[in-house]
Amino acid sequence: MGKCCGNSDVTIDPTDPCHPPQVSCGSKGGSASQAATCPLTWFERMIPNCLEYAKDAKAKGRRIVGIMCEYTPRELIMAAGAIPVCLCGGSAETIGPAEEHLPANLCPLIKSTYGYHVQKANPLLEMADMIVAETTCDGKKKMYELMAQTRPMHVLELPQKPDDADAMAHWVSELRKLKARLEQAFNVTITDETIRKAIGTMNRERSLRRRLAGLMKADHPPLTGRQLLQYKSSISGICADFAQYEKALEMYAAKPPATNSKVRVLMTGVPMAHGAERVLDLIESHGGLVVATDNCTGLKPILEDVDEAASDPIVAMAEKYFRLPCSVMTKNTRRFDVLRDMAREYKAQCVVDLIWQACLTYDVESFFVKQLAEKELGLPYLRIETDYSPSDSARIALRVEALFETVGQRACGQA
Ligand code: SF4
Ligand code: SF4
Repeated sequence: MGKCCGNSDVTIDPTDPCHPPQVSCGSKGGSASQAATCPLTWFERMIPNCLEYAKDAKAKGRRIVGIMCEYTPRELIMAAGAIPVCLCGGSAETIGPAEEHLPANLCPLIKSTYGYHVQKANPLLEMADMIVAETTCDGKKKMYELMAQTRPMHVLELPQKPDDADAMAHWVSELRKLKARLEQAFNVTITDETIRKAIGTMNRERSLRRRLAGLMKADHPPLTGRQLLQYKSSISGICADFAQYEKALEMYAAKPPATNSKVRVLMTGVPMAHGAERVLDLIESHGGLVVATDNCTGLKPILEDVDEAASDPIVAMAEKYFRLPCSVMTKNTRRFDVLRDMAREYKAQCVVDLIWQACLTYDVESFFVKQLAEKELGLPYLRIETDYSPSDSARIALRVEALFETVGQRACGQA
């Protein structure tokens, strides 16, 4: 970590990766001063900011570790002095090249990520000294075997029956194996103290992002779901990002409440990697406001923190991460507890379940999500199965409009 993380007596060093990079602003035409003052503009430049941060860190001898799933504890990588970087692909452009090795009938997230690998098109992946993967869905697991032919990789074996008595012990032993691998590969010693420091940094990041997400509970939230989705970074623990999260919280607290009559949507299902936000955009451009997203690019990974005071920080990390309610688990009952709470807290008027084509686990689980939404919560439910191609956007927009009409009719009936 850079010097400014959790340390008040900071000496600003312009070459310190914690010192915000001086960027010229704006994919959307802003100025450099706007980027420095407007948090949204800062996060619009998330990819160039991350690249600059990673290049700078690499030049100083720090290692880069690629991750592709929220079960991977970033804290352990940070405790090894390395930088965890999310490599999930959200681009349709890398899918064609991926299909030269992978079946077409595979989830676009896996194909896009792999396409970046074969094309060597993601500079963050090209900088990575190691990839940490995990046994989640079959497609990912097998894709990792192909990727591991040319890249150093460590695979965590994720137990998939979360209620089994011995599952946690196995997961803890997997994290201990990862610790040993990082120590050996990077010639470092990971201590309880360095892990606790990393836990503190990640807890702070989760807390800031949770507070921003909490703004959506208001009757008239000060930001859109798309804007909220933008407040995150492919690299965790960047102090400049933390400063921008703080600034955003201040900015929204000072913003006069706006009124709107948008339909409040709870989104669930698959993650929306950077660049794959099309369905959320369609929802919000057709009268909806996504007030909560229970997925791995939304609230799911930031719902809970790691216990900083635990006597064994590896066990504490294992406990937090193992509670992540992903559809690869059987049974995945915690997902439904989370959805119940979110629907109530965020005053959802309907549920949209996003499924990437060929994502079998989320697809099958949609049966239970529909049941929960319609029968238990009494909310209209829409399942959208799609991929990264915009070819079905018009059809999706029509279905979203029909969903909102149903919500409107119900509201009239109750009035
Ligand atoms: S949805 Fe499941 S497999 Fe995908 S990133 Fe989240 S935890 Fe990992
Ligand atoms: S969206 Fe589904 S198929 Fe794709 S990587 Fe995640 S769990 Fe696997």
